[in-house]
Order: sequence, then C-alpha cells, then structure tokens
Amino acid sequence: MAENNLVLYRKYRPKSFKDFVGQEQVTKVIMNEISTGSISHAYLFSGHRGTGKTTMARIFAKAINCQNRQGAEPCNECPSCKEINEGRAIDLIEVDAASNRGIEEIKSLRESIRFAPTFLKYKVLILDEAHQLSKDATNALLKIMEEPPAYVVFILATTEANKMIPTISSRCQKFNFHKLNHDIIEEKLKIICKAEKIKIEKDALDLLISSADGSLRDAEAKMNQLINFVTDVAFTSGDVREILGLSDINLAIELVDMLAKKEKVKAIKFISDNMEKGLDISDFLSMTIDYLRKIMLLKIGAELIDIVMPSETKEAKEKAIEQSELFEEKRLAKTLELLMDAENKTKYSSIPQLPMELAIIESLGD
Ligand SMILES: [Zn+2]
Repeated sequence: MAENNLVLYRKYRPKSFKDFVGQEQVTKVIMNEISTGSISHAYLFSGHRGTGKTTMARIFAKAINCQNRQGAEPCNECPSCKEINEGRAIDLIEVDAASNRGIEEIKSLRESIRFAPTFLKYKVLILDEAHQLSKDATNALLKIMEEPPAYVVFILATTEANKMIPTISSRCQKFNFHKLNHDIIEEKLKIICKAEKIKIEKDALDLLISSADGSLRDAEAKMNQLINFVTDVAFTSGDVREILGLSDINLAIELVDMLAKKEKVKAIKFISDNMEKGLDISDFLSMTIDYLRKIMLLKIGAELIDIVMPSETKEAKEKAIEQSELFEEKRLAKTLELLMDAENKTKYSSIPQLPMELAIIESLGD
C-alpha cells in the first residue's frame, strides 16, 4: 500500500484500548490479563489484513510498560508511553518479516534481546507477517522462544496462521482478528470525515466500505485517496468509483438477478450494452464469479451472511439472501463452474464476451 495513502490510518490509529474498534472479545481478554498481571510471554495475533493486529500489539506493549496505568489502559503521558507513541522506544522492536525474512534478522533480534531492557519494563518484540520468515529464520526464532528471558514478550502477527509451524504457534496464546463489519468501519470513517471536513454521500461511503472487505486500514487508505479531490460538494458513489477505480458491483448483482430468474435474452443484451459503455469483460466476469460464490455460500446457509459479506450494508445483505433463494443449489454450482471456465477462455477468445455468453446460455439451458 502506498505510504502516502496511510496518512489517515496513522493519524487516527488508536492509542488506547477504549479507542480500539471491533475485536471486542480479544480486547476484553487482553485487558483482563493486563489488569490482573497475568500476561503471557508469547502471543499469536492472526487474521485478515488491516483488522488491528499490530495496533493492538502496540497498545499492549504500551500498557504493560506504562508507569501510570489505569486498570489496563496505558496513560499515554508517562515517559514509557511517550517513547512508544513517538516511535523511539528501543525496547520495542518491530520487525516486518515480509521484508526481513532471513536468518540474519533473527540473529540480530537474538542479540537485541540478550540484555535486559534499558528503559522499559519489558522488551516487546512485534513480528509482523511472521509466517513469511524463511525456514532457517523460523527455526532460529523457535530457539529463542524456547528459552526466552523473562523480560521479553513476543507478539507474532500473521494473516496466515495456517502457515505458522506448530512448534511456534503452540507456544503462543492465540487470538483471532476477524474482518470488521460495515457499521464499525462506518463509525470510524465518519469521525475521520468530520475531522477532515470530507463530505460524502451515504451511498458513496457504503461503496467505499464494501470495497475494503472488512479491513479498516484499507478503508482508511481509500478515504485517503479521496482527500486530494475534496471540494465543497459531497462525493457521490460515481466519484468514489472513478477515483478508486472500483468496478460497479451493481452490474454483477443485476446480472445475477437475470441468471436467477433465467432471463437469458436480457442477460446477453445486458452484457452487450455494458460493453458498449466500456465495460471490461474480464473484470466483470471475475466480479460476477466473486459475487455468485457468495450467493452459493448463502444458499448453503443464510446464517453465513456475516462471514460471506462482512462489510456490506444491511440492504445488500438482504438482496443477496433474496437472490440465493431464487437459485437451486445444483444450478448455482453449475453456473459458477461454467463462468470459471469462461474466465480461463476469455483471454484467448477473439470475441472477448463469447465465453461468458456461452456459459450463460449453457447454464440457463433451454
Ligand atoms: Zn503511561
């Protein structure tokens, strides 16, 4: 993600547990551990990108080192809190394993935790994207974790917990960070809009949030992209789509409606009309597949809605459930398969829309 798109994310990054949004369960357990003095020495924070793993790690690091803690909350004013907030605490070591994945980095980590902390009570080691460490580096890390000095706390963060070796993850207290729902992201973005004097229509904000797929950091980065275009007039969904380069998911929803109602002619005409308006058929096809997959999962169980569409609005969720009820399960699976085939064939086809048309005709039968 481009650095200059992270300005809002940094500016509005929470400094206390009370300002941390979503992940209530994680926050509750961690705050309880801190206030009762029963913290672990290794944590594994796993889950979707931009859902607060490293932010939580930093607040945690601050809280356990705070000289004037109130319950579990860091004061943000004592010298320890200030050092961490200003990014100059030498006892807080943050490593991004995605770009520092080798054995040398872990060796230097080992060096840096050999001595007791110089200023803080604990040395806290935050290892982001921990699953990306090389094999050698992972083994070296394991060695350190097997006999850690008492003053060290490890916080490993990963988007792919399944790639962590069991000998490491079994040493950690594990927390899962889930995708954030629409309302939570909306609440945070509204605060930012107000403070930054960004005017945006409700539809436009909904669209931006949906495109962030449950990641607050992504949503904030997208909001950041709008800033250069701020005027007195509120952003419309058209503006947002254009500035962020978003495809219009509504097109996929409309097409799926026609497929659900077996409106073959209408569907073919719809594709052709939109191509005349400049629709990129490959984009459209993958968007349709992505959306139809959600419909299929909802067909299996409507209670999956919050997993399948975490960041959609209530209306979009209702619409999707309604559509899933129009399909038979078998036909849905078949249509998806045919569209996936079409996706592979599109790049070789001299008539770009032909594979998609064939898929639709076959899936709707006679
Ligand atoms: Zn403090």
